[in-house]
Amino acid sequence: MRQNNVADSGAIKKKMNGYVGFSNYPNQVHRRSIKRGFNFTLMVVGESGLGKSTLINTLFESKVYPGRDDSAAVGAVEHPNGVEISSVTADIQENGIKLKLSVVDTPGFGDSINNEESWKPIVENVESRFDAYLAQENRVNRSKIVDNRVNALLYFIKPTGHRLRAIDIEFMKNLHTRVNLIPVIAKSDTLTPREVEQFKANVLADINYHGIQIFKPVSDEYDDPETIADNKDIAGKIPFAVIGSESFVERADGTKVRGRQYPWGIIEVENEQHNDFVRLRQMLLRTHMEELRDTTDVALYESYRTQKLLAMGHVQDAAVFREFNPRVQQEEEARAHYAKMQKLEAEMSAVFQQKVQEKEAKLKQSEEELHSRHKEMKAAMEAQRTALEEQKRRAQAAMPVPGTAEPMYQTQPRKDKKKLFGG
Ligand code: GDP
Repeated sequence: MRQNNVADSGAIKKKMNGYVGFSNYPNQVHRRSIKRGFNFTLMVVGESGLGKSTLINTLFESKVYPGRDDSAAVGAVEHPNGVEISSVTADIQENGIKLKLSVVDTPGFGDSINNEESWKPIVENVESRFDAYLAQENRVNRSKIVDNRVNALLYFIKPTGHRLRAIDIEFMKNLHTRVNLIPVIAKSDTLTPREVEQFKANVLADINYHGIQIFKPVSDEYDDPETIADNKDIAGKIPFAVIGSESFVERADGTKVRGRQYPWGIIEVENEQHNDFVRLRQMLLRTHMEELRDTTDVALYESYRTQKLLAMGHVQDAAVFREFNPRVQQEEEARAHYAKMQKLEAEMSAVFQQKVQEKEAKLKQSEEELHSRHKEMKAAMEAQRTALEEQKRRAQAAMPVPGTAEPMYQTQPRKDKKKLFGG
């Protein structure tokens, strides 16, 4: 038996009677984030000309990504198979919130005759970012950690209308455990809506067949029906069929919108009937940015770090690392504390159970006593009733039947009356 306010997880649920103040915590976090700003690193991968820079600039409504020929892309490193890795950082602000956005581009990917290992320099780059973070985590002074880990990777799929190509599958298979993979169908305006639908189904089937993990918003963590429906809708659009455009076109009603002009009409970037750009932007920037950052930290990076230490054969180092890494220590302390609390709860529950059993036994005993006393009393009363009835019967038997009984006394005629009076 358990008390109602003890939840199964072991946490006691209590409603506060008054305001103590911790409900202000989200505001504190919010204020801190505003003050500090935050980082977001987005990697874009896909063959040249698939509209990567256009889409990034469309997403952030500014020329965040300068494009291939522009010299602003910094630190470009060319690899033997023709893949370069370059990154640009932009400090952008919206409603007073600062975002340090880094866009990592991978020009040359898939552009060579032999693209067999074009995923390699990209994996190396992602992992070197993890290594840099790991090295900073192990420093004595950890107050100023620069976090350049890749939070999301937009993989541009060529709009062939058929299936994924070998290069796409190879890439995703080699990267999916290291990044939050977001597949997008590039330049979806080059396909008809029916072709887009069929292509999406084929891409998803290939992704599932090859066991590739892609980032998907989850619905079961939320209580709010609107958020659940929204997340389901976003998840249903993956792989996002997108259109990018840095220019505006005029609609029939004279209003200007971001879009692409065709002889037969216009395609609007922000029209959900035309493509999935709005849903991609919603997930990436409006609703799941923090989840992407969080998954990078607690799932992708953590698993890389563990694998790396174990692969190096440093089982002992892993232990030492654990010993000196405050974060790992904190996690272990939290785990130990949780286990202790669970043990305590189990003990308390056992004591409670025992007390309940004792009380129940006592109650049963008193019930039995009461029962037997009741039985005794009932028997005594029964005996009394029988005795009284016997008495009554006897008394009735002793009483004469009216009319038949001899008078109790008779007035005898006085035979000697005369005698008495001389008659
Ligand atoms: P990147 O090499 O992948 O960065 O591609 P760019 O962004 O430089 O785009 C290459 C060309 O494709 C440019 O002429 C763009 O105007 C065009 N483009 C970009 N996005 C789209 C799109 O969604 N649809 C179509 N039809 N063209 C696009």
